[in-house]
Amino acid sequence: MSATDDTYPADSTPTATPDQASHHPARAAAPLAGDHAPADPWERVTERMRQDIGEAAWRNWIKPLRVSRLEDGTLTLEANSTLARERVTSQYADRLRVISAAEYGGVRKVEVRVAAQAAPRMSQQKPAAKQSGEALGAGLDPRYTFSNFVVGKPNELAFAVARRTAESATVAFNPLFLYGGVGLGKTHLMHAIAWHIREQDPSRHVVYLSAEKFMYRFVQALRFRDTMSFKEQFRSVDVLMIDDVQFISGKDSTQEEFFHTFNALVEDGRQVIISADKSPTDLEGMEERLRSRLGWGMVADIHPADYELRLGILQAKAERARLAVPDKVLEFLAHRISSNVRELEGALTRIAAHASLVGREVTIDSAAELLADLLRASSRQISIDEIQKQVAAHYDVRVAEMFSARRARNIARPRQVAMYLAKTLTSLSYPEIGRRFGGRDHTTVMHAVRSIEGLINTDNGISEDVQLLRSLLSS
Ligand code: ADP
Ligand code: MG
Repeated sequence: MSATDDTYPADSTPTATPDQASHHPARAAAPLAGDHAPADPWERVTERMRQDIGEAAWRNWIKPLRVSRLEDGTLTLEANSTLARERVTSQYADRLRVISAAEYGGVRKVEVRVAAQAAPRMSQQKPAAKQSGEALGAGLDPRYTFSNFVVGKPNELAFAVARRTAESATVAFNPLFLYGGVGLGKTHLMHAIAWHIREQDPSRHVVYLSAEKFMYRFVQALRFRDTMSFKEQFRSVDVLMIDDVQFISGKDSTQEEFFHTFNALVEDGRQVIISADKSPTDLEGMEERLRSRLGWGMVADIHPADYELRLGILQAKAERARLAVPDKVLEFLAHRISSNVRELEGALTRIAAHASLVGREVTIDSAAELLADLLRASSRQISIDEIQKQVAAHYDVRVAEMFSARRARNIARPRQVAMYLAKTLTSLSYPEIGRRFGGRDHTTVMHAVRSIEGLINTDNGISEDVQLLRSLLSS
């Protein structure tokens, strides 16, 4: 047994830069570590679990777990109590195993035991001065690169300016201000810029920091009366990225400090890159002069992903992770899960974990069942009435034919299409759908759904009809 067996080996972390490797030992103790950039496998596992099981369950059961060791393909985790151990073992162990296998490689088994005592939290007293410039930033997620970023209409401007900023040896836009809603790729683009610059010119000192961490470091410096060295740390920075800057709104002294740091860097010709959830002018609780200053450079917004982009992202992720998820299912997800890319990823992870557990091919039905909670929360409710009206109009039949008993093909086929759309675009069950189509039996609906699924693959006409109707209904 080697000395590193008690923890997971540090060199198994897929960090690509010495910067991160040297940052690693401090990571576990920094209270705000891992807020955006899970560079070590366990953080990525827990992050995926969080997306998968939801914030509340994650906070209760997964977040408190600590990695104890990784040995002979068994990942041993420590829980704080017997209750926690039992809960994790009974409910989350399988999922943890699947995800750990993907993130660590070589993990075949996950064991949970009760920690002998609560793990001591050390080094909170570590003075800021002791933290080298290297430790200033947060780790970068190795997956967040330009090549992993799928470009579409909603994000093409942001992507283009991010690329330009990364590629130009001189300061392109200052500051570059990226904004958009949650989960639309702001952090991804910032990391991508950082990776690119580090690769092109390792001598340029790139620091990526969440606004929260910036704030934390500043408060820490104040506490240790060490604001001089706090400022000193930023002097040598060539490219400073502050993510989610909205978090410093309302925090006056941090804003003040941020403003000075920002001005000093910009005046000195260093590149500053900022992200926020709103445009500079809409940042509430932010001083006017700072707001206007932030808008001086290039401001680029990321719009919510449209259907094309959502599908593109799903296909890229599925391919990269070598997940055998049928196209039909990806299309279904792209239709049903609206704008937030993080949710799309969560859905895909959940489906993949499930598929590898039960060893069966994923179908639209199994996906719908598995993701019922997500789908309900995320999609605009499409009503069965809308579907029936839209389908009737498309095929030029009367809406009443949707409920009628007539079986003529020119009426039965549109009715089947409507049933299929009802099944894939709403969360209604087969019997419920049957009732809404003139009191038909659930087996009739099942048959309709299966027929249309088959035709979509063999009949271009039907496949186009369905696609068109879908986009009409989803928009
Ligand atoms: P934000 O910082 O805007 O909240 P993130 O950058 O954290 O969003 O993105 C959330 C997740 O979605 C990340 O895993 C990211 O890789 C992924 N993502 C977002 N947009 C894209 C895209 N265009 N292509 C590929 N992945 C994306
Ligand atoms: Mg972010």
